[in-house]
Amino acid sequence: MTNIVLFGPPGAGKGTQASILKDKYQLVHLSTGDMFRYNIKNKTELGKLAQSYTDNGKLVPDDLTIKMLNAEVDRYLPCKGFIFDGFPRTEAQAKSLDELMLEKSNVIDAMVALEVDDEVLVERLLERGKTSGRPDDANEKVIRNRIKVYYDETAILKSYYQQSDKYYGVDGVGSIEDITKRICDVIDKL
Ligand code: AMP
Repeated sequence: MTNIVLFGPPGAGKGTQASILKDKYQLVHLSTGDMFRYNIKNKTELGKLAQSYTDNGKLVPDDLTIKMLNAEVDRYLPCKGFIFDGFPRTEAQAKSLDELMLEKSNVIDAMVALEVDDEVLVERLLERGKTSGRPDDANEKVIRNRIKVYYDETAILKSYYQQSDKYYGVDGVGSIEDITKRICDVIDKL
């Protein structure tokens, strides 16, 4: 299996790139943000619990997020591998993902991080908010809070993956095709 964590702040292009890469490498794309939005839309118990966090750009508690992600992984096995998009976002999630992979006799092969300046992120998210229908994209205050949460709680995962030489930074500015090529250059060398 090939298991990739696609990493980066909100608006870095993780979702766009993940949907291209999943076809190219025949991997399963798991986005915890999409899973929460699905549950919120369908008014499930999980959706009701998650909504107050997602609406304000805060992280949903680890126990809920981890349980949801683990169940999704099980649903798709056996497969050629996963692209994790938006997960892990905390050290507890990263550790739990390592344990989950180990249980399946597998590992995370790489964290590929899309690097984009904050002001470009805000611009992209406001633009996306015009059509995405996402409440957390519609408001600049919430967008800036999501970026802050990324730096406060998620960015430390860079050192978590660097410790095992699995961190690969990629320039996330340019055309979609150019960025895909930069990511593929990393994956093809794994
Ligand atoms: P995203 O689509 O990845 O930007 O996620 C949208 C929102 O879903 C985030 O702002 C969080 O509220 C929630 N969320 C998504 N993934 C996670 C995660 N791994 N841990 C906690 N909350 C998450």
